Amino acid sequence: MSHRSSAVTGAAGSLNDVTTPPFAPVSDADLAVLHAQLGRPARGVVGVAARCVCGNPTVVATLPRLPDGTPFPTFYYLTHPAATAAMSTLEAEHVMRDMNDVLAEDPDVASAYGAAHDAYLADRAHFGDVSEIAGISAGGMPTRVKCLHALAGHALAAGPGVNPMGDRALEMSSWSPERCVCADPGSAARVSDE
Ligand SMILES: [Zn+2]
Repeated sequence: MSHRSSAVTGAAGSLNDVTTPPFAPVSDADLAVLHAQLGRPARGVVGVAARCVCGNPTVVATLPRLPDGTPFPTFYYLTHPAATAAMSTLEAEHVMRDMNDVLAEDPDVASAYGAAHDAYLADRAHFGDVSEIAGISAGGMPTRVKCLHALAGHALAAGPGVNPMGDRALEMSSWSPERCVCADPGSAARVSDE
C-alpha cells in the first residue's frame, strides 16, 4: 500500500507513483506533449496516468464519454510513440498467443487478470457510467489478451502487480519509462512564458 499512498502526495514524474484517480490537473505543457505524441489533440483528457522518467506523459486517462458523445472504453491509453511501437513489435512476435495460453492454464493468473479488469472499470467509473460500454474494459480483459497497448497502459498507470499481462508486456518490452527516448525530453515539465 505504500506506493498507493504516494499517488496522493507524489509529484508528477515519479515512476513509482500509482497514478490511478484522482489525477492532478493536466497542464497545457502536458497537453502539448500529448498532441505531439498522438499527432492530434488529445480528447477528453482527465489526467496523465503515467510518465517517462523525464516527466513527459506516457499514458493518458480519458473520459469514458468523449466530448462529442462517443463512448470510449480505453480509459488508460498508451500515448508514447516508442512505447506503442514496442507493443506492436511484441504483438507481431505473437507474444499474445503465449499469454492466452497462460491465462487458460494458470487459474491464479486468470484470477488476477479478472481483478485487473474490475480495477480498470472502477478507475473509469470515477468519471461517469456510460451504458454503451458497461462492463467492457480494454485489451481483451477479463478473459483474453487482445491488445498489449491497452494492457501496458493499465500496468503503467496502476503500477506493478495489478495487471499481470500488462506487467509481462512491459517486462518483455524494448521500451521502458526508465530510459527516456522522448522526442523532446522533459518538455511537459517546462513552464511556458505567459
Ligand atoms: Zn522522456
